[in-house]
Amino acid sequence: MLLKNLRIRMDRNINFFSESIIDEVGNTPLIKLKKASEITQCNILGKAEFLNPGQSVKDRAALYIIKDLKLEKNLNSKIIVEGTGGNTGIGLTVIGSAMGYKTIIVMPNDQSKEKIDLLKQLGAKVVLTEKAPFTDPKNYIQLSKKIAEEKNANWSNQFDNLANRRAHLETTSNEIWEQTQGKLDGFICSIGTGGTLAGNFLGLKHKNKNIKVFCADPYGSGMYSYIRKGSSKAAYSSITEGIGQSRITKNIENIEFDGAFKISDQSALNIVYDLIREEGLFLGPSSGINIAGAIKLANHLGPNKTIVTILCDYASRYSNKIFNKEYLDSKGLTYPNWL
Ligand code: PMP
Repeated sequence: MLLKNLRIRMDRNINFFSESIIDEVGNTPLIKLKKASEITQCNILGKAEFLNPGQSVKDRAALYIIKDLKLEKNLNSKIIVEGTGGNTGIGLTVIGSAMGYKTIIVMPNDQSKEKIDLLKQLGAKVVLTEKAPFTDPKNYIQLSKKIAEEKNANWSNQFDNLANRRAHLETTSNEIWEQTQGKLDGFICSIGTGGTLAGNFLGLKHKNKNIKVFCADPYGSGMYSYIRKGSSKAAYSSITEGIGQSRITKNIENIEFDGAFKISDQSALNIVYDLIREEGLFLGPSSGINIAGAIKLANHLGPNKTIVTILCDYASRYSNKIFNKEYLDSKGLTYPNWL
């Protein structure tokens, strides 16, 4: 099985070339997470979304959103405006550049400097705004809509644009099904827009309704209470970026997930640090939340199960936070001796 996989990958690399980076979105490997699997006696597998061209899970949504713009033949403008924690902006800019679009990316000003710098280097125009509630005109999503209207540009609206979850319904869930040969018991990840969790929910449940689909929710997010009690209440806060949600976005509307787990930043970071030194995986905090969730789901389902989660992006996008002792101390978070 292993050798066969290797041969397919190598053949692909040797015999073919890609017309453009957009052909390299998706088809990411599924990597066994050794320690998580050992401690749960389950098979815990991570979908390596950091290997996408824009180095995050959001490339899939970005590609589907841009393809939809093309279908709609909205040729009024070659500008895309988006409100994002950064990764969707990076995806839209990378894929947009390959498809002839420019981007204006609106972000809350508490997001990592690494993502902001990268976006500028990639050619995006970055607009920073203060953190504000969804209904406030200063909110990054509201501001992105306003800028799009003023410039008569395309507003990609990832939170309520169903092309987002369709990307995962039509690509990620099919890949996971094939890569596990249909032997899958559970899927779990966190919710930012909800596109990844909802798209995989729809795709995987269609293949086998017994697959359990859960949400791993950081503190400060309302999804845990929404899924478990039906209302959306956020308490405390989290250092994670790109995840956590207190609004029922169109991407998650009317979906009944099987359950949710609340995950602390500390348990996510412990996993992130361990994976670097023990498994050679260099992942951002949302991946830590997802893996901590996968461990909880494994314990909930019992031994010998196969559970898939999402490895969203690289740790380097958050270096000034997760490898910064002063920052971690200020948040009351602990870190290993080697830091
Ligand atoms: N992890 C990271 C680092 C992200 O940037 C995002 C996207 N906001 C997610 C996870 C969540 O993905 P989704 O928007 O599909 O819920």
